[in-house]
Amino acid sequence: MTGATPFPNSAPFLRYTSSVATFYVENFGCRATQADGASIERQFEQQGFDPAAAPSEAELVVLNTCTVTAAADHDARAAIRRIQRQNPNAQIIVTGCYAQRAPEEIAAIRGVTKVIGNSHKHLLAEIGLRTSDLGPQPIQATDNFVPLSALMPEARSQKPSFRQPATGDPRPLFPASEVRGPRSEVWVSDIFAHTELLAAPVFDAANERTRPNLKIQDGCNNRCSFCVIPYVRGKSRSLTTDRILEEVNTLVAAGYQEVVLSGINLGRWGRDLTREAQVESGDQRPPTSHRHPKFENLIRLILDHTAVPKLRISSVEPMDWTDDLISLMATSPRIAKHAHVPMQSGSDTVLRRMHRKYRPKHYVDRIMKIRAAMPDAAIGADVMVGFPGETDREFEETRRMVDDLPFTYLHVFTYSARPGTPAASMPNQVHERIARERNRILRDLASAKKLAFMQSHLGKSIEAITLKSNSCGASAPARENHTEALTHNYLKLRLEGHHAPNRWLTAQVTNVDKGALIATAV
Ligand code: SF4
Repeated sequence: MTGATPFPNSAPFLRYTSSVATFYVENFGCRATQADGASIERQFEQQGFDPAAAPSEAELVVLNTCTVTAAADHDARAAIRRIQRQNPNAQIIVTGCYAQRAPEEIAAIRGVTKVIGNSHKHLLAEIGLRTSDLGPQPIQATDNFVPLSALMPEARSQKPSFRQPATGDPRPLFPASEVRGPRSEVWVSDIFAHTELLAAPVFDAANERTRPNLKIQDGCNNRCSFCVIPYVRGKSRSLTTDRILEEVNTLVAAGYQEVVLSGINLGRWGRDLTREAQVESGDQRPPTSHRHPKFENLIRLILDHTAVPKLRISSVEPMDWTDDLISLMATSPRIAKHAHVPMQSGSDTVLRRMHRKYRPKHYVDRIMKIRAAMPDAAIGADVMVGFPGETDREFEETRRMVDDLPFTYLHVFTYSARPGTPAASMPNQVHERIARERNRILRDLASAKKLAFMQSHLGKSIEAITLKSNSCGASAPARENHTEALTHNYLKLRLEGHHAPNRWLTAQVTNVDKGALIATAV
């Protein structure tokens, strides 16, 4: 890859005397977090350090955490303890969304040497590789942390509760010497002051080396009442057009046949970029008639200025599915027919309490337009059950809407209260047993819809990309005499015989079995 050095201003005063030679990055959570993890790996590799095969073999382990649910926090804490047990001499650095949200909780866990929030993630290798006499040692809790409430806009304007380093300043917010009790360093500052965007392609699943995921947007300016993401990832910001074209062209030159574009709020790509920013970045193309570059036009530029065989667009919020975007996806054979449209709820009143910006009728309108334009497209959604105060009637509105709409898959989430978010203090939190039952009802409905969608392909031919996945063991394809593939419309496909990975081909569907299409190449 040809990306710029991640900390161009810091090199002159850095002196690395650390003996750390190997590193391992373990990622949790969404695609954006995985993409950040890839970028952190790139930072270490640019410093000449070697990746270790496992955390137990690394001298420095980075845990890149998620905090979207309480379960995600729990998983991160369990991983810290596991690594401390398996590799007591490793330096453990905890970063990511959980580190940004609750650094004090993490600093109190035995074995953690540094906590680096998203605010400083772009400097992670630099910070992580500095000379340190820190070793694994008992850690006591510290009160030097940035509570989520202090990161919320109202609180920030009233009472700045911490010293905020300038962007790019590699000093810790709380230098080790200032930290009471524990000697772990905490590097966290106001995420809303940050404008960096980590970018490095990442691959969709462990060992799958065929469909790189390129994060082109980070952060979010919305304030959905259940969501902690804006407070841990900051304002919406976009990778410049030139940088995106450069990354896609590099991936194409490396032989990749599909690139997945992703972001936290992908449809908002470009809203923070101005024509001047494009000029500064060396973009010589003529200005568009719009003040900000538009996501749809970015897609056109990628199609025009790269030879990427297939582009897949990950999740785009309902109101960003413009007629133009739908038509572009429908008419270009180089864009996968795959629309992921977060729904969250089918109830008007729940959507209002969630502070979502659309109403059910808007959502239905978008989905029906997508289906009318692309009869064979994958259409998926995120749906949340058990939001505070969700009544039986409101859940039934969601269930009915899911039933009525032509979804081909769903991601069903059970609401999890995130400290500091408005929803966490709403009355009438839904009992876990009820939320679990609602989740089951929607998952059953989604399974039936997915099966019907798969069966609608019987006897037809379909485009699919062959995968190289070791997820069922490296020798499994040889033993089972089939090749795993993914269709353009996001269905698993098992292709008879052996086929080289990373090839688009046409397959004839003969059966549906165990959640996959069975097919032969034509
Ligand atoms: S759109 Fe809402 S749910 Fe999505 S990241 Fe932004 S605040 Fe969170």
